Amino acid sequence: MGGKIVSVGTTKDALRDPWLKKHRRNITEIDCGGGVVLPGFVDSHTHPVFVDPRLVDFEKRIEGASYEQIAAAGGGIRSSLEGVRQAKKSALSAKILTALQDMAAHGTTTVEAKSGYGLTVESELKSLEAIRAAASRWPGTVVSTLLGAHVVPKEFQGRSQKYVEAVCKEMIPQAAKRRLAQFVDVFCDKGAFTVEETEHIFAAAKEHGLSVRAHMGQLSETRLSRFLRFDPASFDHMDHVNDDDILQLAKGNTVATLVPGANYFLGMKDYPNARRLIDARVPVALATDYNPGTSPTVSMPMAMSLACTHMKMSPAEAVAAATVNGAWALRVADHKGSIEPGKDADFAIFDVSDYREIPYWFGANHCAATVLNGVISARN
Ligand SMILES: [Zn+2]
Repeated sequence: MGGKIVSVGTTKDALRDPWLKKHRRNITEIDCGGGVVLPGFVDSHTHPVFVDPRLVDFEKRIEGASYEQIAAAGGGIRSSLEGVRQAKKSALSAKILTALQDMAAHGTTTVEAKSGYGLTVESELKSLEAIRAAASRWPGTVVSTLLGAHVVPKEFQGRSQKYVEAVCKEMIPQAAKRRLAQFVDVFCDKGAFTVEETEHIFAAAKEHGLSVRAHMGQLSETRLSRFLRFDPASFDHMDHVNDDDILQLAKGNTVATLVPGANYFLGMKDYPNARRLIDARVPVALATDYNPGTSPTVSMPMAMSLACTHMKMSPAEAVAAATVNGAWALRVADHKGSIEPGKDADFAIFDVSDYREIPYWFGANHCAATVLNGVISARN
């Protein structure tokens, strides 16, 4: 009803529900007979605002170049800037919409979308506007994030303080005022932003009423406890994390979002230690990290498969991490992430007979249809 779940139960129960009885004539029935229905996936970490794939980086990495070497040679995040800065908003929004549709075809109904390949005030705001334009043409739900602090752009090299100032005094206030973003994200790591800069940006976000999240521990360990006073919704990547910080996270509201697609695509031997987090009772979410440099996949089932095979998560843990924990990571769990009366009608329907087949058949898409806020989108 109005894109919400009215009742949950067996067919017999549903037929007895007074609301359903009354509105029977106006109901579209979907026969998922023999299939698996899950809550729509919540992909809580994506970078969809870019123009071109990064095929040169791809080949260089195959030849043995590291993340830092590729960045130093002019590849990496900085090489996506030119395309985004020059692109028209409508061209960006068309790219984003295509990605959202591809995601839905793989079972995703809620997407967090970050800016972060413009890195000027103008192009970051343009990126957020493009996200908003794409979201308005897609029946699913988009949560947008300002990632002005992705890397320090070339023109500010050696003057990162000046760039942080532009993020805090221009990007954040304007994004907040125009309601273009719910979150502010920072890439806090070597080669990106320092702990002090991250604190500065978080403080500016809070001052303007925006929530915070961060890329943490991808390349090196950063102590997390000093950020907890900003109540971050999630710390993402978490390849490197300290035991004391894990204890702190287990007590708080911050989700650890793992993005094994990046480890896979970078050809890494090591993956985030999901077991250590889960066994310490830290809430763990899974996301695609869809982006042109390190994780060009729209597939949550692929992220789940990697979680099972490389991070020793059970298929059931992978489902929870890809749905309700993703919703917690975006602070939308009151209406997303599970199939319960009153929540949004977001479902993914799979043509398999057991949910464990979803991560099992890796590289194949078994999502037959998706329901996004009550709107049915069938594959093909
Ligand atoms: Zn990312």
